[in-house]
Amino acid sequence: MEEVFGIDLGTTNSCVAVIGEDGLPVIIKNLDDEFTTPSVVCYDEDSDECYVGKEAKSGMGGAPDQTVAFIKREMSNPNYRREINGKSVSPVEVSALILKKLVDDANERRSYDGLSPVRKAVITVPAYFGAMERELTAQAGQIAGLEVLDLLNEPTAAALNYGTKGLEGKTFMVYDLGGGTFDISIMRMQNGVLTTLSTDGDHKLGGVDWDIALLDFALQACGLDVTYDDIREEKDAAKMLLSAEICKKNLSKNDRATFKFVYKRKPYFKEISRSVFEEITENLVDSTVDMMYHALKIAREPLSPEDIDEIILVGGSSYMPMIKKRIQKEFRCSLRLDMFEPDRAVAKGAALHAARLQGDRSVNVQLGEDMGARSYGTDINTENGVMVQNILLRTSPMIYENTFYFSTSNEGQSMVSISLFENTSVEEYVPIKKTTRIMDKSLDLGGPVPKGTSVVMHVTRNKEGIVHVIGECNGVREEFSVETKGLLEQGEVDALRKFLSEKRV
Ligand code: ADP
Ligand code: MG
Repeated sequence: MEEVFGIDLGTTNSCVAVIGEDGLPVIIKNLDDEFTTPSVVCYDEDSDECYVGKEAKSGMGGAPDQTVAFIKREMSNPNYRREINGKSVSPVEVSALILKKLVDDANERRSYDGLSPVRKAVITVPAYFGAMERELTAQAGQIAGLEVLDLLNEPTAAALNYGTKGLEGKTFMVYDLGGGTFDISIMRMQNGVLTTLSTDGDHKLGGVDWDIALLDFALQACGLDVTYDDIREEKDAAKMLLSAEICKKNLSKNDRATFKFVYKRKPYFKEISRSVFEEITENLVDSTVDMMYHALKIAREPLSPEDIDEIILVGGSSYMPMIKKRIQKEFRCSLRLDMFEPDRAVAKGAALHAARLQGDRSVNVQLGEDMGARSYGTDINTENGVMVQNILLRTSPMIYENTFYFSTSNEGQSMVSISLFENTSVEEYVPIKKTTRIMDKSLDLGGPVPKGTSVVMHVTRNKEGIVHVIGECNGVREEFSVETKGLLEQGEVDALRKFLSEKRV
């Protein structure tokens, strides 16, 4: 049977896995002999070439204008483009280059062993990704030359990897602290069905915040009266941050480490102990813990900390001993620390899912319904100004429908506006500035109607997360769908795929 692969396309690092001969997933190392590849792309100034991974990351200090990092954060932003060397590049194109690098490196390794190239893969996505970001991720996979078998939620992948047998009957949390994002999910495995009960997170909190805290501390301690924020645009800043990351990783293994950096051509050394590092970053760990409680609060059914049987730690930042320590103190349940490879668990779980889709019966689990990733509502006038009243909440199941009733506000109006706003709130009412308008249509009533005529807005969400609205008023009924902005035409995907197939990144 053709081999299939699992790919974790991460905000900071990416990783590819396959099922080994013993039936267990293994990571395919890249050509730098590392398990994960930085999700960083650097475009050469003088040629059409680009570098992806370690080489691009280490070049970040030298060529910030040519380097793209953290692109996954922009996937939900349909108009986001980076101008590089006079060309405009989109998040999908950058993501495709990262995937292409993973695949090319894996293929080179596999070809030594006479193995077939990577073609079919499952790619993972954050649980909070909406329909559009999922579709864009699939397009990036196609451009990279892959046949995308499925997209799988990252926490689900982690759970699959940590063993579905041991999780039967349990309610557990997946705590995923990566490089630039933090995600928390609460899941349950019952009668072989894996369901998500809650998802939450902070997409601006991750390992890089620990790096910055460490750098700020070292700057102070070395008598330099600046912070990273003051100097972030300066030439040295990116390299200093990389030095901080190295020191941080050393502090995961050792009680003390030396932070070496160069600022304005002068070298500095500062010895730092793990306990000081833990003190200066305690507030960051606190925010992740607060989010764990919030995830419990907004769960689909009422849950308390005692209901959590286990916690699975995912993401490279979970290697920091302070994370385990703090969570164990806070939640008195067991942590899954067998085969503890938090930065590889997601890719491995994706490989297991890919094998399942090919008919492998050894992973005996059914994926239950996902949760909605976003909330949707319409604008209303309140005493506090214009607010959005949510009609579908992100904490409701994915497949869901609800109806909203209002009435026309002017005498003799012949049109009624049907607007839909997307947001991540879990409240019924949200300030409009915290939402994005994704639909702005009008229902033509065919002639004037009296003030106060009732209007019905029926909103549905299908299993792919795609939202439809039916507007009804005065006997007129019309269905509207949300346009997915920013998606590429199939022709564009094919052209980019052809272009990349002839390129080596
Ligand atoms: P993402 O999911 O964001 O793509 P990862 O799960 O690979 O990324 O996490 C990357 C983060 O993990 C980085 O901030 C990196 O510095 C951090 N990290 C990786 N290994 C260690 C370690 N041994 N100790 C502390 N932090 C680590
Ligand atoms: Mg990740």
